[in-house]
Amino acid sequence: MSRQTQAVIHADALIHNFEVISALTPASKIMAVIKADAYGHGAVNVAKILQGRCQCYAVAISEEALILREAGIQEPIVIFEGAHQKYECEEAARLNCTLVAHNQQQLEWLMQTPASQRPPVWFKIDTGMHRLGFDVADVDTIMTTYAELVTAHSVLVTHLASADDLSNAFTQQQLNTFTALQQRFPLHSSIANSPATLGWPGARGTWNRIGMGLFGGGPLPQNEELPELLPAMTLQASVMSLRTIACGESVGYGQAWVASRKSVIATVSIGYADGYPRHCPNGTPTFVRGKRAPLVGRVSMDMLTIDVTDIADVELGDVVELWGRQVSITEVAELAGTISYELMTRLSTRVPRLIA
Ligand code: PLP
Repeated sequence: MSRQTQAVIHADALIHNFEVISALTPASKIMAVIKADAYGHGAVNVAKILQGRCQCYAVAISEEALILREAGIQEPIVIFEGAHQKYECEEAARLNCTLVAHNQQQLEWLMQTPASQRPPVWFKIDTGMHRLGFDVADVDTIMTTYAELVTAHSVLVTHLASADDLSNAFTQQQLNTFTALQQRFPLHSSIANSPATLGWPGARGTWNRIGMGLFGGGPLPQNEELPELLPAMTLQASVMSLRTIACGESVGYGQAWVASRKSVIATVSIGYADGYPRHCPNGTPTFVRGKRAPLVGRVSMDMLTIDVTDIADVELGDVVELWGRQVSITEVAELAGTISYELMTRLSTRVPRLIA
């Protein structure tokens, strides 16, 4: 038995999303970004579902790589720029992972490691995001000083600051900087995350780094050539209590919602401790018995309340979708003042993930 509050992970949606993005980008390879427990979907689950299709996975930190290796995942794993301490470089080597280096200190540690034990190294370049990476002006020196670390498999990596905004000229500026660099250092390239892969064909490289595109959330730029991406997660809970309240009565903490008519209120078994955002306002949609039902009152730690006055025959135990195929996670995220990335990654460990 598992809790009725659960995240159903749709293997078919993950595979569909992988396949349609692959078909859109035949000249590139997809690196499935499954850091942060595959954005809450379960990294081992997702890696296993994509096995045989996906040639490479990416995580943020060596601890995430360890979980995948311990679960028997043998495909190449790239550890993104989170590996910035010496032990993490050593762990990357021990776990047979590729390291994305972004500062000279990391390269020094790698040089101190016997060549036979060094992990493959990719080089992160700062083309304008100004968060991590080697300064463009320093790349000549880096490539000469650490030539020993450069191999036929090395990749020049960069990250785009505003790829989700197709009208922002800064993306093209970053791409121009990267192209000029690649002319001088003709290594493999990795530039694009999901928004860039979908919205900026010029950003597609040897490896595109796809996270949200696989999970079917957003916001992602429209791409008319791409069939619809499907949500890979349905978050659902169940009706645990039902009551009728009179016009003028309030619901929940702070009496944040007052009934403007006689109303039927369903209490649902999910709260902010599960990862449902407390910031969701009155009116945020949920879905029960084939209809949308608005959230009413404040979200509590373990439960929330919805107005089911206009939905016939709601019963105890009915399944309520919080986001998924009927309620878009992007819509919920916008109402909560955030993005679907945050909602997915904040889903707590007490919500069982069930593969469907
Ligand atoms: N590349 C890097 C460096 C990232 O940090 C991330 C995610 O945060 C991704 C790619 C994947 O981004 P997306 O989920 O938009 O595909």
